[in-house]
Amino acid sequence: MKRVFKVVRCPRCGFLQLTAASKIVRCFSCGLSWQLDREAILFSSPDSGRAREFLAKLKQRREAGFRKVSGEG
Ligand SMILES: [Zn+2]
Repeated sequence: MKRVFKVVRCPRCGFLQLTAASKIVRCFSCGLSWQLDREAILFSSPDSGRAREFLAKLKQRREAGFRKVSGEG
């Protein structure tokens, strides 16, 4: 069976993380174990590098949210 890497968001604290779990995810931030559903999965790929990249971008965006971002897009 192929592994699929997913970028998911914790329903309790909103923490973003990468997981290869298919059913239950444990949040690294608040420790909550929660069941994956479609809405919680922001991205999925068999390529862990891609999933990681997506996660990094997402986090960057969040952090940049309160700052001025140079460039357009
Ligand atoms: Zn959490």
